[in-house]
Amino acid sequence: MKVLFLAHTEEGGSLGKAALEALGAAKGLGGELTIGLYGAEVQAGADSIAGCGATKFYGVAGADFASARYGSDASACEAIAKAAGADVIVMPATARASRVAAGVAMRLGAAVDTRLTGLEAVGGTIVGTRWFYRQRMVGRVERDARPWLVTVDSGCFDACTAPGTASVEMLSATVATRTVVTGIKSPAADAQTIRPEAKLLLVAGAGWGKSQPDGQKHLDEASQLILGLLSATQCSLGSSKSLVDQSGDGGALPFLTHMHQVGQTGSTPRHAKGLATCCHGEEPHVVGWRFIGERRAVNLDAGCGWAQGKADVLYVADAFAVVNKVVELLK
Ligand SMILES: Cc1cc2nc3c(=O)[nH]c(=O)nc-3n(C[C@H](O)[C@H](O)[C@H](O)COP(=O)(O)OP(=O)(O)OC[C@H]3O[C@@H](n4cnc5c(N)ncnc54)[C@H](O)[C@@H]3O)c2cc1C
Repeated sequence: MKVLFLAHTEEGGSLGKAALEALGAAKGLGGELTIGLYGAEVQAGADSIAGCGATKFYGVAGADFASARYGSDASACEAIAKAAGADVIVMPATARASRVAAGVAMRLGAAVDTRLTGLEAVGGTIVGTRWFYRQRMVGRVERDARPWLVTVDSGCFDACTAPGTASVEMLSATVATRTVVTGIKSPAADAQTIRPEAKLLLVAGAGWGKSQPDGQKHLDEASQLILGLLSATQCSLGSSKSLVDQSGDGGALPFLTHMHQVGQTGSTPRHAKGLATCCHGEEPHVVGWRFIGERRAVNLDAGCGWAQGKADVLYVADAFAVVNKVVELLK
């Protein structure tokens, strides 16, 4: 079996965490491993995994491949995949790769499955795992079709790094596109509060917006404390549905959107650690946190059943006071 690990590089030609994890997934299949990298530069990325056991390295590089753009990325992937002639192609499920995965599969006549959370060779059969219907059901996928292109989710596989010096065969890819990338507009790093790469997920629940023991709501203080903890730890922010819904109505915390919601009808992020604050709901604790490694909660209510049942440690305390103190200590 020939396996191709196919990924775009980041700044300076390096490989990101999601790509290194996808390489871990590709390596885990066994078989003859080939590497394919595309981006402005690829040598640094190839060197960072030179000793991974691959028999061949292909690259497509240049200014045309610096930015995410469907036409150029798809051409680069197609050129590499055709040169490699692999049975299975493993890509990371980054936004950039996800954008072209289905199109590249179409060009290759390949089958495609996206966002796999498991990938293994069982006997001679390759089995992928993925979640369906908002993470309610897990499915195992096998396909006879080859090539089979898959993208794998971040946080599910061990990253593979094996520095050395790689000899990369550079390929040329035709860039026939009318789209010109003139620049990238993105929010300042601090304004972006959803950070999938962060080690810690902070979940803010509706308690932050409720009347506190003094009978008053303290929304400004809640905003400052949550954003202060985010800034001090660079953690990612999640929220319960109740707080997101209140915030959407112009109340509560203006920086929260439905994108922050974790749970049955929200996301199920994968961070090493989670801290839930002022949160009681079943859905955020049971579903939203299911893939979080270590879970702790701060709640005024010692009888909060979900925090009791689903957190490894429950601090029965006022989250306003706790977060204030933690930020002070971190500063
Ligand atoms: C079909 C369906 C799907 C749903 N999907 C989701 C989903 O995806 N995600 C989701 O979140 N919900 C979902 N819900 C809603 C869910 O059932 C709960 O209503 C919601 O999660 C409750 O939010 P909460 O825990 O933030 O608020 P609350 O239940 O109001 O809890 C607030 C908590 O804050 C604590 N508190 C208050 N002040 C403080 C303080 N100073 N310090 C510490 N603790 C304090 C209180 O003790 C309380 O435990 C869904 C519901 C349905 C019916």
